[in-house]
Amino acid sequence: MEINIAIAKGDGIGPEIIDSAMEILDTIEKKFNHKFIYKEVSLGGYAYDRCGDPLPKETIDICKSSDAILFGAVGGRKWDNLPVDKRPERAILGLREELGLYANLRPGILFNSLKDASPLKAEIIGDGFDIALIRELTGGIYFGEKGYKDTPRGKGAYDIELYTEMEIERIAKVAFNTAMKRNKKLTSVDKANVLEASRLWRKTVEKIGKLYPEVKLDHIYIDNASMQVIRDPRQFDVILTSNLFGDILSDEISMLTGSIGLLPSASLGEKNKGLYEPIHGSAPDIVGSNKANPIATILSAALLLQHSGGLEKESKTIEMAVHKALADGYRTADIARGNEDAIGTKEMTEIIKKNIEKMVLN
Ligand code: NAD
Repeated sequence: MEINIAIAKGDGIGPEIIDSAMEILDTIEKKFNHKFIYKEVSLGGYAYDRCGDPLPKETIDICKSSDAILFGAVGGRKWDNLPVDKRPERAILGLREELGLYANLRPGILFNSLKDASPLKAEIIGDGFDIALIRELTGGIYFGEKGYKDTPRGKGAYDIELYTEMEIERIAKVAFNTAMKRNKKLTSVDKANVLEASRLWRKTVEKIGKLYPEVKLDHIYIDNASMQVIRDPRQFDVILTSNLFGDILSDEISMLTGSIGLLPSASLGEKNKGLYEPIHGSAPDIVGSNKANPIATILSAALLLQHSGGLEKESKTIEMAVHKALADGYRTADIARGNEDAIGTKEMTEIIKKNIEKMVLN
């Protein structure tokens, strides 16, 4: 299979972790006989330094004509005082908008071998958990009408939560399709006891649910969901929610897994196009020191193969190679505990690569 991948390394540790992920993709390409065609694009502070624009038109055009984008991270002190529209972070928001990426997938996985890193008690964690959170990314309160107005009680401000049936239907389909590939269990999170937009959300999710009779669908309110992910995260498989609730819930879930350096994410649009990135930032404090954990970006590459390439087996192979590295006790500095020795970015990449090469496939 041939996949055209735009590579946006970005700033800080971006180039280091993307190089790691590309090494892993190269290994998969060889082992499974695929062809991955890379086109490097400039984005973020790096692009601003080159041409005065953090998201150059050329980058947008290449990303639009690619099947997928693999992205490192952007930002750093050097660019902190630029006007908002020139800030590196704007580039990534702009790119998501340009590409119409409306579904954000953030897996919250607690690896069995890293249970100590979670702030939750051992009896709650059990053998670990694996939640796929799907957040609507281009609608809702962040994109609704907003402004200030005078009220009888003085000056006020408002932000409107607006969802259309079409927006809910398309994100619900992503969630149901994800559930079909996993344990066929979907929890939709809303606030339908108070919000009209949530009532439409629930009704529409139920309507789409009829097309997926094998998936067990339930609904819970966001306040309850925030409590339940701490009380018993293992009860969840796929969670579907709106932009605002997903923003908060995904951060809460990532915290439960213990490390920011391990979690990937995908932003998906029509026709399997997607942007894949680690959830962390550009980590300026460790740049160039071979200390960055490459796993979040390597797992982002695995999501790329799964969602934009339809390569389930290849994606699973990467995941299994990462699990094995962790189960064998290899740790980068961010996840090493007590007297555990830490290895560097390059060494961790090499170990995962060797695991893939040695893996016997059935
Ligand atoms: P950060 O995620 O970059 O770093 C937070 C802490 O986690 C740091 O101590 C860092 O060393 C550590 N860390 C992050 N990734 C790691 C990894 N892979 N391995 C080991 N340790 C890791 O967040 P921050 O410090 O708040 O932000 C730094 C810059 O990144 C800022 O300019 C911010 O705007 C930007 N940022 C970019 C994105 C993005 O590109 N999507 C996301 C968040 C922050």
